[in-house]
Amino acid sequence: GVLPAEAEQVLRRDAEPIPRVTAEVLLRHTLKFNRVQMYQEMDTELSPAQENSLRGLIKRHLDGEPVAYITGHKEFYGLDFCVDSRALIPRPETELLVEKALELARNRDAATIADIGTGCGTIAISLALNLPSTKIYATDISASSLELALYNCQQHKVLDRICLLEGDMLEPLPEPVDIIIANLPYVTEDYITHSHSLSFEPRLALDGGKDGLSQIRRFCTQVNGKIKLGGSILLEIGEGQSEGVVSLLPNGAPSAHIEVFKDFGGVERVVWVNVSGKPSTGQKHQSQR
Ligand code: GLN
Repeated sequence: GVLPAEAEQVLRRDAEPIPRVTAEVLLRHTLKFNRVQMYQEMDTELSPAQENSLRGLIKRHLDGEPVAYITGHKEFYGLDFCVDSRALIPRPETELLVEKALELARNRDAATIADIGTGCGTIAISLALNLPSTKIYATDISASSLELALYNCQQHKVLDRICLLEGDMLEPLPEPVDIIIANLPYVTEDYITHSHSLSFEPRLALDGGKDGLSQIRRFCTQVNGKIKLGGSILLEIGEGQSEGVVSLLPNGAPSAHIEVFKDFGGVERVVWVNVSGKPSTGQKHQSQR
């Protein structure tokens, strides 16, 4: 790309080990430029203060801090979200969870959806903007992540349809819903302990205990009475967890149909459970792209 000459120099000298696009994002953040301005204002000279601040940002990123926390923004499902260390940074593979939920909600004309462990609110808000007549509950046990979710709801003007609830997973839900969607913590303790890049995000949002499934296990014990007959549960899972998760799913329901969907990286990422009202013929388990 073409860049102000001085910025070019700083980037070449200090940001050499990081990808070019990342360096440009940090530069735009320093200059408070949007993408278009970046190309229009080619003659901009960096003031000494800006040069210093750009160096500072590059250093933070080289020390492992995620770009999203440095800029305070992350794009998800084509929308801009404010992020900070109060909540997990949204991941692109989670868009699959949103796509599946939209499909189900439209087929069923869902009146109510619950996003469990909403974090900064990305899933709930993406759904609200695409389902104008659905009521969405978004719960989180972390009061500080809910503050961030509240801010994002205000930015996207969806507070009239999203009800933020503080509490443990499904407990705060006031009524059974059509769809429950959850990206719960599923990373193993061991992995987190050894991961420098995850150390910037709240442990509470990542930690799935010894086998990564302890939060999903707890979730499954709470489902009863929180989902309507014919309703669906959509869970994001980690690599290699599909069998473990499927075995945990509620079999208390009359019958359940289960499918697992792979993300764009070919990893089984989303488990879909349809709780039907028909008499049980046993669980079906299918894997699909
Ligand atoms: N997808 C995140 C990661 O790769 C984990 C998110 C979660 O635990 N729900 O680290």
